[in-house]
Amino acid sequence: MSIANHIKYYTKELGTQTQLVAVSKTKPVALIEEAYEAGQRIFGENKAQEMSSKYEVLPKDIEWHMIGHLQRNKVKYIAPFVSLIHSVDSQRLLEEINKRAGQCNRCIDCLLQVHIADEETKFGFGIDELHTFLESDAFHSLKHIRVRGLMGMGTNGVSETQNRAEFARLKVSFDKISQQMEHFDILSIGMSGDYKIAIEEGSTMVRIGSAIFGARNYQTQGNTP
Ligand SMILES: *Cc1c(COP(=O)(O)O)cnc(C)c1O
Repeated sequence: MSIANHIKYYTKELGTQTQLVAVSKTKPVALIEEAYEAGQRIFGENKAQEMSSKYEVLPKDIEWHMIGHLQRNKVKYIAPFVSLIHSVDSQRLLEEINKRAGQCNRCIDCLLQVHIADEETKFGFGIDELHTFLESDAFHSLKHIRVRGLMGMGTNGVSETQNRAEFARLKVSFDKISQQMEHFDILSIGMSGDYKIAIEEGSTMVRIGSAIFGARNYQTQGNTP
C-alpha cells in the first residue's frame, strides 16, 4: 500500500474520537509530502533539530508534535512553532518550555508523559506524583504552557493483556484529572503495534510511524522508542 492509502486507511479506521499523529522521524521530506497530499496535517518527530529543518521546508499548516525525549537545551529550536509536546517528562523540562514559550509570546500545549511501562528505561512522571504536581504552586505559576493531557507507552514485547492494563491505569488518572482541569482532553496512547488496544482503552490520539512510512533504519539514525 502507498503512504497515501495508509493515511486514508487509518483516518477512516480511527473515526472522529481519535486523532492520527503520523510519526515521520528519520523519514525524508518527500515521504511527508506524500502523506500531506493525502490530507494528513499532524506529524510527529523525536528530534528537535530534525523537526525544525523539516518545518522550514514544508507547508506551514502542518502541526508539528514532539513525541521523543526532549533535552532542555533543545527546546529553543522548536518553541517558535511546535503545536504539541507529548514527551514532557519532568518539571524542569516544563519550566524550560514555559520560559522559551514566553520569549516567543506563545502558550505551548503539552502532555505529561507518564511512566506506565514495566521497564527501567522509560522516561516520565510516576502515576502517583502526577496529581501532586498538577496541584502545586510551581505548576500553577507556569503561564506559557497549557497541559492538555497525558501520554504513555506500553511495555515492549509483553502480552496484550499487560499492555491493556497499563493503558487502563493511565485512563483512570486521565479521567480523574480531566474532571478537575480545563482543556485536559488528550490521551496519547497507541503506536503501530498496539493502537487498536489503545483505542479500546480510550485513546484520543495515536502515534503511528512504521505502519504508515515503513520500518526505520536504526543503524544510521533515529531512536528506539
Ligand atoms: C517512534 C515512536 C512512535 C511510532 O512508533 P511505530 O511503532 O513506528 O508506530 C510512537 N511514539 C513514540 C514516542 C515514538 O518514539
